[in-house]
Amino acid sequence: MTPKIARFLSQQQPATPCLVLDVDRVEQNYAALRDALPLAHIYYAVKANPAAPILQRLVGLGSSFDAASWEEIEMCIAAGAPADKISFGNTIKKVASIRRAYEAGVPMYAFDSREELEKLAEWAPGSRVYCRLLVENQGADWPLSRKFGTSIEHGRELMIAAGEMGLDPFGLSFHVGSQQTSTAAYEAAIGKVAMLFTDLADAGVDLRMVNLGGGFPTRYQSDVPGIDSFAHAIMGAMTSHFGNALPEILIEPGRFMVGDAGVVSSEVVLVSARGATDGRRWVYLDIGRFGGMAETEGESIKYRIATAHDGLDDGPVAIAGPTCDGADIMYERSGYRLPLALRSGDKVELLSTGAYVTTYAAQAFNGFAPLAEHYI
Ligand SMILES: *Cc1c(COP(=O)(O)O)cnc(C)c1O
Repeated sequence: MTPKIARFLSQQQPATPCLVLDVDRVEQNYAALRDALPLAHIYYAVKANPAAPILQRLVGLGSSFDAASWEEIEMCIAAGAPADKISFGNTIKKVASIRRAYEAGVPMYAFDSREELEKLAEWAPGSRVYCRLLVENQGADWPLSRKFGTSIEHGRELMIAAGEMGLDPFGLSFHVGSQQTSTAAYEAAIGKVAMLFTDLADAGVDLRMVNLGGGFPTRYQSDVPGIDSFAHAIMGAMTSHFGNALPEILIEPGRFMVGDAGVVSSEVVLVSARGATDGRRWVYLDIGRFGGMAETEGESIKYRIATAHDGLDDGPVAIAGPTCDGADIMYERSGYRLPLALRSGDKVELLSTGAYVTTYAAQAFNGFAPLAEHYI
């Protein structure tokens, strides 16, 4: 937690649950990434946290933006981003959204299928397009499954077709999975992309861009490699595959940019054993899976939890949300322990919750309001 957040929480005592996010930390993360990968253009993945103060700060720093919908594009433009610094990175786009984006001047679009390419050729003619390849997500705590991306062979066909359809076959992209803790995932994916670059050059299609996606991790329960390790692996792989004919490099960090900038303050609603004899207590917070902590699904993202009793005796707990849904359990199998002194009414802090929390919160399930947000 940053000193600014600690001060805000103690002085303001904001109603819980709420996210408090230090926008200066976002700026520091942006600077760290820019310093580690000076050749890469940074496209902030807006979905991680689309709050206006974040977008405005990043606009001021000269960032570009990866948007997944027309609505996200509008948020970027409203925050002052020039349309030519926005990439429409979702491979699944409504025609109405493509048309609006094109009219607004968004120059670059992702795709991974012939059907989407046909939509782009019709509604965003002449635009730069890049094909998303399916790559291994091994090493990612929040893998993106097989929902996106295509094979090298199909990607080759599609990039050739893109030119024939009057689009600009600009480059290739991948996403190694979110909260990716292995630098090797990027190296392997870059090798795959480079092969296709060569293949396409032989076919007369000269690509100019590689989009490395996001995936850079935030520290939760476990240590993760620093951004310099990822940068080193990435630039090593880029130069070994492309030599000094480096294409334009794009990265789309989401989690890395905002994750450790935010803290969720929550109140303990109940601590109970419910008659169990194994000594494990159930700790119910006023935030859970439906209040924004969606990434606890499968206990994938393991947030650190701070209490005022830290350092005193602790014991095993399951941690759940306040709603009447049996799925509203955050941690049951991950070995969480909390102080024995913890009581109903205590405040706890869920650390590094700046990414993928606010927009995942339900509207009013069980009557609970969406997560309050404070940007400081
Ligand atoms: C979600 C997403 C990102 C951001 O991923 P992080 O793991 O948060 O960095 C980047 N690019 C695309 C296409 C995405 O869908």
